[in-house]
Amino acid sequence: MTTTDQQLIDPLRRIVGEHNVLTEGDLTAWEQDWRKRERGKALAVVRPASTAQVADVVKACAAAGVSIVPQGGNTGLAVGSIPDASGRQVVLSLTRMNAVRSLDAANLTVTVEAGCVLQSLQEAARTAGFLFPLSLAAEGSCTIGGNLATNAGGTQVLRYGNARELCLGLEVVTPQGEIWEGTSGLRKDNTGYDLRDLIVGSEGTLGIITAATMKLYPLPAARLTAWAAVPSLEHAVQLLGLAHRHLGAGLTGFEVMGRFALSLVPKHFPAQRVPFIADSEGASPWCVLLENSDNESEDHARQRFEALLEKAFEEGCVSDAVVAENLSQAKALWHVRESIPLAQAEEGLNIKHDISIAVSRIPAFVAETDALLEKEIPGVRLVNFGHLGDGNLHYNVQAPADGDARAFLLNEEERVNTLVYDAVQRFGGSISAEHGIGSLKAHKLEKHKSPVALSMMRAIKGALDPNNTLNPGRVLRA
Ligand SMILES: Cc1cc2nc3c(=O)[nH]c(=O)nc-3n(C[C@H](O)[C@H](O)[C@H](O)COP(=O)(O)OP(=O)(O)OC[C@H]3O[C@@H](n4cnc5c(N)ncnc54)[C@H](O)[C@@H]3O)c2cc1C
Repeated sequence: MTTTDQQLIDPLRRIVGEHNVLTEGDLTAWEQDWRKRERGKALAVVRPASTAQVADVVKACAAAGVSIVPQGGNTGLAVGSIPDASGRQVVLSLTRMNAVRSLDAANLTVTVEAGCVLQSLQEAARTAGFLFPLSLAAEGSCTIGGNLATNAGGTQVLRYGNARELCLGLEVVTPQGEIWEGTSGLRKDNTGYDLRDLIVGSEGTLGIITAATMKLYPLPAARLTAWAAVPSLEHAVQLLGLAHRHLGAGLTGFEVMGRFALSLVPKHFPAQRVPFIADSEGASPWCVLLENSDNESEDHARQRFEALLEKAFEEGCVSDAVVAENLSQAKALWHVRESIPLAQAEEGLNIKHDISIAVSRIPAFVAETDALLEKEIPGVRLVNFGHLGDGNLHYNVQAPADGDARAFLLNEEERVNTLVYDAVQRFGGSISAEHGIGSLKAHKLEKHKSPVALSMMRAIKGALDPNNTLNPGRVLRA
């Protein structure tokens, strides 16, 4: 370590304590991304315990001209939360700041520190008799700060919106080390520009979220989950339309899963059973997982749910279906859906896309893009699943069965991405529905975002963080 580096490390140790500035030993957990695609090198990993400490760390780094990578659970999928390879960036890990500060039952809000793990927040809400609805497969590790910084979506967006819609206020440390206290929990506040909305989804490039006030909901009285086999993606869209009409606001989740994506689950997790994908003649190419949660009685909700499925059979958009009889069956069905990304990771490195397209256009997009990919790369395997209710597909591309997954990623990623993102653009969609841009898609953003939008984004970054202290090169390249 150079003398200049030491001149920063010493004050950092004074701010957060000797043991919370890591410079040696195995730093893989902070330096490598979740998918093990990339590995950076940190000057130090700094673990503050309070907002004041975060502010002091930011001031010290800014004064030393050292940039900062904010990090929560490091489950992000856009390579935005790890340092670059220079060894010159400080990783600021928020995980020690994990307290639930307060819960206001009358205001239906909870204020938590940014490093609070999503599952802990869900549990704290449940213990107090409320629902915190944000839910995604990484919930045991991701943090509320990371959820907000990436505007995470997940499986309940249809009913409750994404992280942005669930957030009523933020506490943020600016790139200059000032503290903006904005956790008022107001549902109405029209006093000028919405700074909360600017910070949400900014992926650690405009400010460090240290706390947030989030919305709570009453726990639903009844929750019903069904798994349906559908003959085609067109039929899945038709079923979604029926579900909207029959269930109204009760429709909470609507996930679609391709057969190949589902087949990876029992392959890598043999204890799991997946309905309707037996590899037999006529096995369904797509399955749908749908959920209704409501405040009406379980009997009443079940009647409506069953009426929906009857109608769906009548119209031929469902070929088989099961309704979970109890919570543990429902959990098992959701567990299958949530295991797909993990099973896919076990299958080997792959090219991930997290796109959104108007629901009505998804079947045509998939048919056209599948055909293009299969023509370009014979034998390519398409791992297709996602939040169809939100028009969001994880349109992932896996090497041919006999191919080398790492070599495939290395050699084909750019070509595959160009093909997929150009198709997304032709269909009027977005190249990132959930995971964000990070460093992975920063060059693609330049191609697919309007030049006017890009120049407004650059102006905002330049105004708030003129010295590029926070997460440089992420979202916007230098
Ligand atoms: C198995 C799996 C399933 C997933 N499913 C979904 C899904 O359904 N929907 C979805 O949207 N995402 C999903 N993700 C992606 C990921 O979990 C989310 O992006 C999550 O919100 C990231 O939270 P984190 O705490 O891990 O953030 P990190 O990975 O640590 O960071 C992500 C980004 O946020 C920034 N950041 C983190 N904390 C802060 C902070 N306090 N202040 C400012 N910036 C910060 C980082 O700099 C980085 O740019 C999934 C990931 C995995 C591994």
